[in-house]
Amino acid sequence: MSKLRPSICVFCGSRAGLSPTYAQAARDLGQMIAARDWRLVYGAGDIGIMGEVARSAQNAGAQVFGVIPTHLMQLEVGKRDLGTLVVTETMHERKKVMFTNSDAIVVLPGGAGTLDEFFEVLTWRQIGLHEKPIFLLNTDGFWDPLVALVDHVIAQGFAAASLREFFVVVESVGALGAVVDPCWTSRTK
Ligand code: AMP
Repeated sequence: MSKLRPSICVFCGSRAGLSPTYAQAARDLGQMIAARDWRLVYGAGDIGIMGEVARSAQNAGAQVFGVIPTHLMQLEVGKRDLGTLVVTETMHERKKVMFTNSDAIVVLPGGAGTLDEFFEVLTWRQIGLHEKPIFLLNTDGFWDPLVALVDHVIAQGFAAASLREFFVVVESVGALGAVVDPCWTSRTK
């Protein structure tokens, strides 16, 4: 691990979604990040559950590192009051800066952007570019269809079974808290 304070990269929706449980999970995660003295790395927007996780972490005293491309500053309401705000030229650069400044990735419910971000870190893991832990926060079973799709891809011979070992599905923020610490501990040995 490169830094004393673990940095957790959160990928999640720029919308709130239908169920209030998604925003609640985002707030719970923000609070857990602060309580454990982790740093939040995220896409720097102040909308949807992205905004929820950031405000919650910030209000509870966490360090927040946000990364947003110039052209989304308006659309995603770039949050200017973060401890660190990096404004990039491109989306690719955004993902790279988020990734290189993180020790683990947590994926909350979200849309196409969140799926893109998840599959990028998953495919990088698949080809051995990193060993950072990836967690899918499966609030109300939101990611069940995604897990089923991955299982289908494996069953049909388009990926090795190990693909399923590159991410951990957790049902709640509490469950994430129980598995994420031992995971980091083992990486620092
Ligand atoms: P969504 O899940 O569609 O609400 O998007 C979640 C976040 O992913 C938003 O901040 C989007 O700007 C971001 N996003 C979408 N596509 C990309 C991409 N190709 N590279 C980087 N970020 C992206």
